[in-house]
Amino acid sequence: MNVVLLQLPIPRLDLGPQPGCVPLGAACLAQAAADLPGVAVHVVPESRAAFLGDAALLEALLALRPDVVGFTVFCWNVRRALFFARRIKQACGARIVFGGPEVTADNPIIRSDAVDAHVCGEGEAVFRTLISAGLPDTPQILSAPAGPLFSDADSPYLSGLLEPAIENLMLLETQRGCPYRCGYCYYNKSADRRSVAEAGRVLNGVRWAVDQGLGELFFLDPSLNARPELTSFLDAVAAINSEKSMGLLSEIRAEAITPQLADRFAAAGFTWLEIGLQTTTPRAQQLMNRTTRLDAFLKGMALLKQRGIAAGVDLIAGLPGDDLAGFKASVDFMAAHHLTDDVQVFPLSVLPGTDFRHRAADLGLDFDPEPPYPVIRTPRFSNEDFQSALDYAESRLGTALFPRPDLNLHHRSRRPGDITPEGHYGPAPLAGAVSKILLEKPQPPARLERLARRLTHPYQIFVWPAAADPDYLRRALSRVTEVNPFTPLELVFMGGAPPGGAASLLSAVRLHRPHYLDLELRHRYPAPGNRAVLFTVVTTDAAPGRSTDMMRQVHWWRKDRLPAADEMAALDDFDGILVDGPWAQDAVDTWQARFAPRAPTLPAVSFSDARHHRQWVRRTAGGAYYLPVV
Ligand code: SF4
Repeated sequence: MNVVLLQLPIPRLDLGPQPGCVPLGAACLAQAAADLPGVAVHVVPESRAAFLGDAALLEALLALRPDVVGFTVFCWNVRRALFFARRIKQACGARIVFGGPEVTADNPIIRSDAVDAHVCGEGEAVFRTLISAGLPDTPQILSAPAGPLFSDADSPYLSGLLEPAIENLMLLETQRGCPYRCGYCYYNKSADRRSVAEAGRVLNGVRWAVDQGLGELFFLDPSLNARPELTSFLDAVAAINSEKSMGLLSEIRAEAITPQLADRFAAAGFTWLEIGLQTTTPRAQQLMNRTTRLDAFLKGMALLKQRGIAAGVDLIAGLPGDDLAGFKASVDFMAAHHLTDDVQVFPLSVLPGTDFRHRAADLGLDFDPEPPYPVIRTPRFSNEDFQSALDYAESRLGTALFPRPDLNLHHRSRRPGDITPEGHYGPAPLAGAVSKILLEKPQPPARLERLARRLTHPYQIFVWPAAADPDYLRRALSRVTEVNPFTPLELVFMGGAPPGGAASLLSAVRLHRPHYLDLELRHRYPAPGNRAVLFTVVTTDAAPGRSTDMMRQVHWWRKDRLPAADEMAALDDFDGILVDGPWAQDAVDTWQARFAPRAPTLPAVSFSDARHHRQWVRRTAGGAYYLPVV
């Protein structure tokens, strides 16, 4: 039997940064089934699953000739997984299994003729049964504790089932289940079955990560402070990570931190901890069944800070029992205590399987039934309040909560085969995939269709004036998006505004709507519209045209010298600058060395030459990038 397991990524408009789509669940299943005779389990590697568009990934899956395909479904990929499931069933008749957080008894989206079995909670034991005894004749939701298949197993990283180099990171579970019952959290469904990984197995993982020279290790526990015998565990980790060559990360409750525990976190090598405050409003804390003693929270935060451990704090906008004034007070609380370095703000999602979903009617939660199920209004939080809340948080915390995609406009290369007149081909492991279609002139339909089946996730289409005929472009967009209905894209217009206007071009785009990105950003961009197609206008004009939510204006620098500081400053009204010219390498080196330290205060910069662009990214954002695909 040939089993293929796939985890689809969070949709995005940036190709190069690390995707954060580690198929850990799939790898655990593959490991659990490794001894089953006559069964081959193939986990689609992150380096392909996260970077290939719909058509290319489907073709790669079908080439594996699967008998069974398993999907790990989250709110960000469930619609795309359903699309894949239907296409796979039509093409080869494979049986389809869904597992992951979206599989809950109260989630209508996952019920589909295309899905033969659903696995709720831990998957290892159910997966073994399904594979060895066969899938049920009628769709069912199945569930069983993993038991020793989790607690007595080494991490699947040690068997080479995952690719830690992509994120320079290992994910390691020390326990499953959570003793808390937060109203917004889907983890509750397995909370009554806590299971703790045997310490020796976890420490094998830590030792492996240190030996591999990984930069970071993330303990995936929902609340690390809930692990039994935490202090002795941290002492053992400290002995392994004695040189602190690897940064450790996890999630904890700040109130649980004592000076002794903070010392142990520091000695073990922790550099960052995620802490959910969510709100300071007492009524909202009560309704979400998560109260925080603010004095103890502040003490815990101070203990971490004194030891150089950074903390990321989460706030939620739109909690039941909260209102705009309460949300602002939570933000003010963070600002007043100088805790603004790393604050994440999320509009509430009313996720399947959560207490809030069960009680949505009683709590008056009006939410979108499509993923990620954003709350639209509550009795105390109007639709408009969300916009005000996010604006307030951005200005008070001095941060962009939903930053625009990075500027990536390179389209020339001196390396043979890297960029051809028709497109930009990705390097290994994406050899053969096309990340940029280059329309310097109209391309014949057959060629466009061939390119469409090889596109990455996301991709770009560059349009030069010779190809800027509105009718041609509408036909081209329709062709390309028809076979990639879930893949976000960027349209780059070299030399002027979109021909015929953005609305006319969008009418030809065949994306599935509403796209996940439409709803994820609905409170940031409240007008109905399109969030999965980004327009970038590149112009030699001295002043930018109108920037909108999904249209950015970039100055095309084509002079015979690289821009000086005052010339960069004069272009500050643009969303970015494309530096385009046949510059000598040493001139670019000097320019980049000078301007890279100031990059956060400059307009975004991209180079037309692929090598110069890669070098700029490495200098300014290297740590966050999976460089081979830039
Ligand atoms: S939010 Fe965290 S602490 Fe609360 S129930 Fe979920 S996993 Fe547990």
